[in-house]
Amino acid sequence: MNKKISLTKLAKDPGCLSEYDPNSMDFYSAQKWISQFINPIAKRETVTIDEALGRVLSNDIKSNSNVPNYDNSAMDGYAINFDQNNSLSFDVVGSILAGSLEVYEIKPGEAIEIMTGGKIPKGTNAVVPIELTEISNNAIRLKECPKSQANIRKIGEDIHKGQIILQSGKYLRPAEIGLLASLGISKVSVFKKITAVYFSTGDEIVAVGKSLKSGQVYDSNHYSIGAMLQSLNIKKIDFRNVPDDKEKIKEELLKASKIADVIISSGGVSVGKADFMKEILSEIGEILFWKLAIKPGRPLAYGKIKNAHYFGLPGNPVSAMVTFYQMVQPAIKKLMGIANYSPPPTFEVECNKKIFKKPGRMEFQRGVLSKVNNKLLVEPTRSQGSGVLSSMSEANCFIVLSSEQGLVEKGGMVFVQYMEGVVS
Ligand code: AMP
Ligand code: MG
Repeated sequence: MNKKISLTKLAKDPGCLSEYDPNSMDFYSAQKWISQFINPIAKRETVTIDEALGRVLSNDIKSNSNVPNYDNSAMDGYAINFDQNNSLSFDVVGSILAGSLEVYEIKPGEAIEIMTGGKIPKGTNAVVPIELTEISNNAIRLKECPKSQANIRKIGEDIHKGQIILQSGKYLRPAEIGLLASLGISKVSVFKKITAVYFSTGDEIVAVGKSLKSGQVYDSNHYSIGAMLQSLNIKKIDFRNVPDDKEKIKEELLKASKIADVIISSGGVSVGKADFMKEILSEIGEILFWKLAIKPGRPLAYGKIKNAHYFGLPGNPVSAMVTFYQMVQPAIKKLMGIANYSPPPTFEVECNKKIFKKPGRMEFQRGVLSKVNNKLLVEPTRSQGSGVLSSMSEANCFIVLSSEQGLVEKGGMVFVQYMEGVVS
């Protein structure tokens, strides 16, 4: 793929690239196309690890210490010094609690009581868990000889000094925050939060809180898009609802392009009379493609206005959410600085109900995945209409059907993508 081609050139002369078809772009090509225009945000800042959850590292983190930084016991039990000639009896010569800084030493035939995390005394060649010992008169007796070095957590076993422990581009989850703390690191350099401006278009759209007349709809996209941006932990700026007025939309887009890394609008990207986005974008920016061969979400626009990336989502509420999750979110993650991001994987399960589909377009049907008698089964939600937002709420997974796929009978196998991750 030619990396240097500009959006403008592509828009003017799409035929110069055989895989670019603005009237029917396949999902994977579209993702690939968008991805090549997205680079991580350049600005960085330093934050404390308390504030670092959901942020992205902008530097490699090298360990300046060993973890653990001393040999310690993995068990509550006895540190023993034995050699081949030893009997299985040991004199107990003391006790070590975790946190004791004293350096003890045991001689052959001696044992010392030790708690989990306690510092291993010199001369120790194994720790024996308390359950495997018989205690009497300051002596212990073992049933069998332990393996050399058993139950000793070695210095540097988790992390050794000088090791790159986290790489630039790492998305920070609770495990990484804990890991940084385990190295004594209290501050990290992260990519600055990107800024997203978002607004809805449509004369029929009414803000929540106002009364609704027949012929009007509440602006649900605004809230679902706002919430999806919020869960990405980025800075969102609300431009509210803009009427289907070409000049007004143009004005808002230009205003947004001065402050945003990403601009997201909903509605107005179709071919209806009031669908101005394509026209406006070609006047004030660059535009990449218009029709995706996916369902729901056929009309989707990607472009640039000055330095801001523009995503024009379809107006239908389900289409807006599906295209956001499947196309916009991976792009935003790359822009946030996340290296090698890949979306949650799909896996194959049996479907418990007939799935209606015609070959031709890739589909992201909304599904409910459940475990019945220890077996994973999926069924599509009651409605698959692109305006039926309750189907998104009912669903816990996407049923991802390839463009060639036709109807799937009950008992057939399909790929699903679970909506919630365990962590992050
Ligand atoms: P459009 O993409 O502008 O042609 O809109 C397609 C459908 O989605 C129409 O039925 C709109 O009323 C509906 N729609 C557009 N924007 C919104 C919105 N912000 N909230 C809820 N529904 C919307
Ligand atoms: Mg509209």
